[in-house]
Amino acid sequence: ALPKLVVGNWKMHGLREHASHLARAIAEGVRSIEGNVQTIICPPFTQLAGVHDIIDASGPTGQFFLGAQDCHTTASGPFTGDISATMLADLGTKYVILGHSERRQAHGETSQIVCKKVQAAEAAGLIPIVCVGETLAERREGRTASVLAAQIESSLTDRFTGVLAYEPVWAIGSGIIPPREELERTAALIVGLLQSHLKADDIRVPILYGGSVTASQAPSILSIGALDGVLVGSASLEAEGFLDIIRVAA
Ligand code: 13P
Repeated sequence: ALPKLVVGNWKMHGLREHASHLARAIAEGVRSIEGNVQTIICPPFTQLAGVHDIIDASGPTGQFFLGAQDCHTTASGPFTGDISATMLADLGTKYVILGHSERRQAHGETSQIVCKKVQAAEAAGLIPIVCVGETLAERREGRTASVLAAQIESSLTDRFTGVLAYEPVWAIGSGIIPPREELERTAALIVGLLQSHLKADDIRVPILYGGSVTASQAPSILSIGALDGVLVGSASLEAEGFLDIIRVAA
């Protein structure tokens, strides 16, 4: 079976001291968790190198990896302030979150731009974690399926080998999680959309759920067969709560 994935997205949080304490505590906790689970933490760019060293020093568990939260569409060039996938890979980063709704909304990232970033990440040997999800208005209008179809179709490469994260925009930071039946239905829909997009039976894209995931909600979410893990925001900023989620996944 595929390992369960628990991804922590720190967003724009984490000064040096907090970042190193948090990463150390997670590294220590992960070492004592047995089970088919992989943990990925995605600090802001400024903490990647420091967190990388902590993960490295925690030993070759094959269970704990570094991710970033974005990358540029190209490998290098005159792009002041940007960071490329090649640079992330050079630092020992293994995953990169792309197309998060906070970037789609606040930075005008379209699915076409996300797809270029996916190509850049794949070319650099990174594993993209591509986020899709409908807004509250789109959900109310009954447009969830068509929004997800368009995002999956346009954001992913033809032979995408990364991870897909379903993050309903209205569930992020709200404390509200889709009712279980709705989440089950949407996860099944995404399985079908991925199958028709990839036109290949040999690619199995892991599907994560993200949006207000906590340790208490994790058992119900992770019992959905079509889901392979969770993408955790605020609950990933506190070691014990995050480790509890990893324990549930294991
Ligand atoms: P919260 O877990 O804080 O709702 O954030 C979810 C998210 O956006 C993870 O990428």
